[in-house]
Amino acid sequence: MAAAAASVEREAGRLTELDSAIGDADHGSNMQRGFAAVVTVLTTDEPATPGGVLVAAGRQLISTVGGASGPLYGSLLRRSGKALGDAPQVTVGELRTGLQAGVAAVAQLGGAGPGDKTMLDALVPAVEALGTSFEAAAAAAEDGALATVPLLAKKGRASYLGERSIGHQDPGATSSALLFAALAEVAK
Ligand code: ADP
Ligand code: MG
Repeated sequence: MAAAAASVEREAGRLTELDSAIGDADHGSNMQRGFAAVVTVLTTDEPATPGGVLVAAGRQLISTVGGASGPLYGSLLRRSGKALGDAPQVTVGELRTGLQAGVAAVAQLGGAGPGDKTMLDALVPAVEALGTSFEAAAAAAEDGALATVPLLAKKGRASYLGERSIGHQDPGATSSALLFAALAEVAK
């Protein structure tokens, strides 16, 4: 979470720039505010388990981020954390199963599927590739984010633009790639 927060902090300008093209120019500041709050809450009251960390982080994102991405990322982390339960340690395979539940929660909450030009276009392939390695997951998320460029947005604010959403990279898919890059960095 600390690595994710640092990465989001570094890349906030780029995320906001992407969101200014097909949204309302707040994705960088939303992510920055949310993950800074996550780090604060985890430092103040560190949960004892990986699942507890994800649940606390998700809850914090939901309560601090007003944009669509807050509840969506919040649900991703909270549902993933709940799936991990109170195990004191988790394997990569268990983390992957947990994240699958989290991704399903994002799809359920937002009603989007693969190809709709959302964060799911990075999250779904990343979680799939986590079956191979953390590096593969990060690479799949990055590829997924890049692959949103030619897509027509079907969900979220960008969908209001219709055809004009084509030719721009989705901000949320881009931040998802940052999160998986941070995970791979820390795992290494
Ligand atoms: P807002 O759109 O409310 O301003 P943000 O700018 O923080 O919120 O986040 C925008 C990102 O959220 C989009 O780039 C997209 O990836 C993601 N998003 C928006 N709506 C949905 C949805 N229904 N399902 C999945 N992801 C979504
Ligand atoms: Mg926005």
